[in-house]
Order: sequence, then C-alpha cells, then structure tokens
Amino acid sequence: MRVDVLGVAFDDVTLDEAVDRALSLLEEDGPHLVATPNPEIVQRAAQDPEFARILAGASLVLPDGVGVIYAAKILGRPLRARVPGIDFASALLDQVAGTGKRLFLLGAAPGIAQQAAIRLQTSHPGLAVCGTHDGYFKEDGPVADAIREARADIVFVCLGAPKQEKWIAANAAATGARLLVGLGGSLDVFAGKVERAPESFQRLGLEWLYRLAKQPSRIGRMAKLPLFLTSAAGARLKGK
Ligand code: UDP
Repeated sequence: MRVDVLGVAFDDVTLDEAVDRALSLLEEDGPHLVATPNPEIVQRAAQDPEFARILAGASLVLPDGVGVIYAAKILGRPLRARVPGIDFASALLDQVAGTGKRLFLLGAAPGIAQQAAIRLQTSHPGLAVCGTHDGYFKEDGPVADAIREARADIVFVCLGAPKQEKWIAANAAATGARLLVGLGGSLDVFAGKVERAPESFQRLGLEWLYRLAKQPSRIGRMAKLPLFLTSAAGARLKGK
C-alpha cells in the first residue's frame, strides 16, 4: 500500500519488508529505482515536476526520517515505520552478502567509494563489490558503461537528491543493473568520514538533532521541517 505525503507516495513497509521487496525486485527484470525521501526531498519534489514524476515511478519509496512519519500521522494516514536509507542499505547487504549478487558504489568525493567498499566488505563478509566511481564526473555515459562492464546487480547512487534520482532515471537502463538505490550521503558514513548518531538518538528518532549539533550549518535545511509539518496540517484541514 502507498501513502501520499504531500505529493510523494510512500510504501507503508517496515525495514524487513522493504528488504524483502528489494530482494524480489532483484529477481525481476529491471531496472528498478529505490528512493528514500526525507521531508526536504518531499518539499523539493513539490517544486520540481520532473523529480516528482521520477519518484512516482519508483519501485520502492521508503520514508527516510521521522518528519515524514509525523506528516503522515498529521494527515491521518500513518505509516507503520521509519526506514532510513542507510539502515535499508545495510540490511539489504546483510542478505545479499555471499549470494554472488554484485554491488557497485557510485558517488561522493574521489576515494570515498573505495574506502566505503573496503569497510562494507569487512562488515558484510562475502559481499561482492564489483566496482566504484566517485560522484564528480562530467559525462554520464562512461559511468553507466563502467557499471555495465562490472556486471553490477545493485548500484548505490549517492549524488544527493534530486541529482541521484535524475541520474538513475536517465541512465539505469544503460547500466544493466536491476536495483538502483538513491542514498544521498551514505557513502561518507560507510567510509567512516561522517559519523552516525549514537543508537540512542536513532532509536528516539532524534538523529536529525545529533546531526544539527555536529553540523550547525544544517540549520537552514532543517528550518524547513516546521513548514513541512504545517503544510501537512493545512492539507488535513482542507481534507486532502
Ligand atoms: N555528491 C556527489 N556528486 C555531486 C554532488 C554531491 O557525489 O555532484 C555527493 C556528496 O559528496 C555527498 C552526497 O552526494 O556524499 C550528498 O550528501 P547529502 O548529505 O547532501 O545528501 P542527502 O542525504 O541530504 O541527499
């Protein structure tokens, strides 16, 4: 079931269900896009019809962030669980490690994807990383070719939103991969460059607060959250 939150239709799934769905998609002809929108991305989609169309066509749209959960609740159509992109990615890799499925990492500054590959292979023994590429390239074609030549099944595309979803929409077919997941800054976390909040913060849905304390410059981005929740309340009152 999909739940509309201010124009973006989210899959009402738990983390385990999301991983099961992704594993099924890996067995079907692709390509399939998995998106993990947070409130900022939903607001972005409201201003960018092309981006909204791409999200509407995604195979799996996961609620990344407690703000989406609050908005769904305010709208009177609650989502069962928050499924952060990075948790989804880790849980998926737990399942595919040792199966022969091949992962390609695309994005972030030069060197980061390789570092992430090494760390992911340690944390997920048996994981087959078939290639990496940084996220600062000029032409799409050679990157899509590199993914095809690496015979990737899964690609983590980490260019930030909406760039990564637009890149996937334009290039997924050329890569030959079945599952392409837009994961924002996750490679920086997997590489150990950016720390995730302690588990206690994650459990309470306060990861955003921890990130804000570490990176006060994010305040501008986060200030949009109250506006997002107000829009949800407004939509509810209008009976949308
Ligand atoms: N990035 C990239 N190519 C670009 C722009 C950004 O590879 O042209 C990377 C950037 O290095 C970072 C990630 O994309 O690793 C974006 O992280 P951010 O936290 O801004 O994304 P979000 O998770 O908020 O979408």
